[in-house]
Amino acid sequence: MKLAIDRERMGSEIEALAAFSDADAPAVTRIVFTAKDMEARAWVRTRCEEAGLEVRQDAIGNTFARWTGSDAALPVVGTGSHIDAIPNAGKYDGVVGVLGGLEAIRALRKAGFCPRHSIELLIFTSEEPTRFGIGCLGSRLLSGTLSADAARKLTDNDGVSVEDVRRKAGLTGELEQVKLPAGYYKAFVELHIEQGPILEREQVPLGVVERIAAPASLRVTVEGAGGHAGGVLMPERKDALCAAAELILALEQAAQTSGAIDTVATVGICEVFPGAVNSIPARVRISVDIRDTSLVRRDAVVRALEEACRSTSEKRQVTIHPEWLNSDAPAESGPAIVAALRQACEKHGFKFLPMTSRAYHDSLFISRIAPVAMLFIPCRHGYSHRPDEYASPDDIAWGTVVLAETLAMLAE
Ligand SMILES: [Zn+2]
Repeated sequence: MKLAIDRERMGSEIEALAAFSDADAPAVTRIVFTAKDMEARAWVRTRCEEAGLEVRQDAIGNTFARWTGSDAALPVVGTGSHIDAIPNAGKYDGVVGVLGGLEAIRALRKAGFCPRHSIELLIFTSEEPTRFGIGCLGSRLLSGTLSADAARKLTDNDGVSVEDVRRKAGLTGELEQVKLPAGYYKAFVELHIEQGPILEREQVPLGVVERIAAPASLRVTVEGAGGHAGGVLMPERKDALCAAAELILALEQAAQTSGAIDTVATVGICEVFPGAVNSIPARVRISVDIRDTSLVRRDAVVRALEEACRSTSEKRQVTIHPEWLNSDAPAESGPAIVAALRQACEKHGFKFLPMTSRAYHDSLFISRIAPVAMLFIPCRHGYSHRPDEYASPDDIAWGTVVLAETLAMLAE
């Protein structure tokens, strides 16, 4: 089978999609369910129809473009990604997986391949958390990780609900129907830019993702006692910031000693009240983000933090209140898909690296209902979520050809 990837068409399609933006070029801003997002979706749907695919949308706007296999009753082989973009982002995040998936299907059709399993391109709704504060809205609903009720209650900064915006966008079905039936997918593969520096540094064109890390996030509030920075003597103090500092260091220690490089823990926000030079901190709120590819290791760090909360609270006579924001389990890639990806790389003579995805993607949620894997291509300097995000036409074409080969193997 001769797979011909049309680089010129892919390049011009990436540019065309980037033009649906609320920011000036080269920046791309495309927030879910804005006018630009709706135009971009319509444009992608038209490209899919032109390619001869059967297009349907579910109630949250996840878009499925199907190439029906010779045995239509078999589970589907899926590929795809997202086209929404955070403010001031680039052209490639998500887009490479959508347009690469489409081009892979076009190449397979042109080569005369006849799939037994249907092959389906999926464009997920709202991978980015920009508007509704939660990432991967579409794939969480598809996998049942988020209930229809919980999704309906989500609102944006203007108080507008998911329910309102999707109905205004003409999506009238019930959110309950978004969840895919058990056994819908045989496999799901997502092509994506790496969003990190490893492939470029190692000068390897492809990364086969074997596991996807996932975060647990908490907000921890420490309540101590305020007072005058001169008046209150040290033995009398209940300094909330000093207590928070102990928690932060305990968290760092727990992540450093987990025994694996994949364990990372970060406190990125520290709000101090009242926040005056001559006032003892009375209340501190910190954000905690703990990530790992192993749930067992990540849970051990969480337990160490909880233990630090207990002991620090006792020692310093402060109240410490940890609040869970989210906790998604990491995922292992499906061994059969990883094997197919490796085989496809070898067949086309491409070097590849086994990789861990340290950012999470829609594939993480699809992994709850199907075997998944991801294929990474390099992006310049590892830059992503910024206007100078860049992936070369060669790397995009190579990723696409390996994706096509892999889809063919899985759909045979
Ligand atoms: Zn992405």
